[in-house]
Amino acid sequence: MKHAIYPGSFDPITNGHLDIIERAVKIFDHVTVAVLSNPQKTPLFSISERVEMIQKAVLKTSSDLTVDQFQGLLVDYAEKINAQVILRGLRAVSDFEFEFQLSLMNRRLNPNIQTVYLMSGSDVTYLSSGLVKEIARLGGDVTDFVPRHVKAKLQERLVDV
Ligand code: ADP
Repeated sequence: MKHAIYPGSFDPITNGHLDIIERAVKIFDHVTVAVLSNPQKTPLFSISERVEMIQKAVLKTSSDLTVDQFQGLLVDYAEKINAQVILRGLRAVSDFEFEFQLSLMNRRLNPNIQTVYLMSGSDVTYLSSGLVKEIARLGGDVTDFVPRHVKAKLQERLVDV
């Protein structure tokens, strides 16, 4: 059984992430979307809020999908849940340098786990959580970039700050 883990911050999930998830469930037997709990970052949404937003967004996607959270080394978590593949998305050439370094380091840490990159559709490839938050903060319309419940959460949160 081919089990892939799709790790990330997902602060919040965007249509770009969802594009990658939809492609992944067609390739792998099981996909775990794993939200990284990183104490060094100050996210807009808590871990449980991010997990909940993803769960809601993937309700109709596939039964072969789990949403989880993890701390610490990704390769250790991947091994714990028996995932053989780390899945990442590639947008522009600018993603490449960091992703290249990350995949080689993860390979060094655990040579049994392979990193696989997928490219999203051209209609969402320019999306990032950071850009979406910035647009929402400046009062722009994010309807086309995130699921409806995420848009509502963004509006609610950005009114608070
Ligand atoms: P991280 O902090 O780990 O980069 P993100 O939530 O920003 O977490 O991204 C998680 C993964 O999803 C990364 O591999 C990123 O390249 C990918 N990704 C994010 N947005 C897109 C997009 N619009 N198209 C393709 N891949 C994307």
